[in-house]
Amino acid sequence: MRPPEVDRVAASRAAVAARRARADVKKNVVIGVRSPEDVVRAGLAEPAGAEGSLRVRDLLLSIPGLGPVRSDRMLEKLAISPSKRVGGLGRHQQERLLDSLSARAGGSATARPGGGPGDGSQLVVLAGPTAVGKGTVSTYIRENYPEVKLSVSATTRAPRPGEIDGISYFFVTDAEFDRMVAEGEFLEWATVHNSSRYGTPRGPVQEALDAGRSVLLEIDIQGARQVRASAPEAVLVFLLPPTWDELVRRLIGRGTESSEEQARRLATAKVELRAQNEFDFRVVNNKVEDAAREVVDLMNISARPATA
Ligand code: 5GP
Repeated sequence: MRPPEVDRVAASRAAVAARRARADVKKNVVIGVRSPEDVVRAGLAEPAGAEGSLRVRDLLLSIPGLGPVRSDRMLEKLAISPSKRVGGLGRHQQERLLDSLSARAGGSATARPGGGPGDGSQLVVLAGPTAVGKGTVSTYIRENYPEVKLSVSATTRAPRPGEIDGISYFFVTDAEFDRMVAEGEFLEWATVHNSSRYGTPRGPVQEALDAGRSVLLEIDIQGARQVRASAPEAVLVFLLPPTWDELVRRLIGRGTESSEEQARRLATAKVELRAQNEFDFRVVNNKVEDAAREVVDLMNISARPATA
């Protein structure tokens, strides 16, 4: 007997919604907003959800650098059938898949190799893609966690309304910036968005660390890489948007940029998101106060919100 027309319509609508949800999961893996390990864990927790009903092969195909040949080879090695869905994996298959995915990613991005933040002061770098809200999170930390020393960068860009020299930035001329570079005064520096230069003055950071305080640098990804190279003990935190669509919404924001500018920013954000595996920790910026708390927790301090 055929199901009544209404049931068939509802079923086909549900199937379309499920396909769309799976496509979203894959898109977020493609651009790096979600790690494949996160997707597997979510799928195992809820086998009937979008992640759980995703075929393992489709998940592997979403991982940058894994084409059909490598994906099939990996499935064969893991003894997982190509038609297997994430939610239907057996216990040993789950373990093998998760091990193999984290080995590919170079270890878990949420576990710092060589242990977590140690005793004493900590140098923490907060970076992330354009428009993810790094500035808002670091301003929240400055205003609510006075124990955290926020590094004040030097920049050659002009102050925006409301910005205060010495608090928001040290606003310097090109010549002064050149001098600071020549005299080795920067811990790191970079040209950001192909326009102005920004740098972290080394002296105040070192003084605070020597005095046992933890220091937060809110800098771009190029700067984070320089800090990794010159201060390997620094903790690198990557701020992520809740989803790719949310990042697009924040980037396009007020709609004041031209469509070419919007496309350029989106392309930059995609490249920046790919850097996340170089970082020790990932923090999702769902709510500013929660993200700020997570970042502060990574600094080895007994900080409490000043206003709480
Ligand atoms: P804005 O001009 O909007 O204040 O900042 C633009 C970008 O410059 C942001 O991505 C910010 O993280 C980055 N930035 C700010 N200070 C520094 C710094 O000292 N070094 C580096 N490398 N980037 C910085």
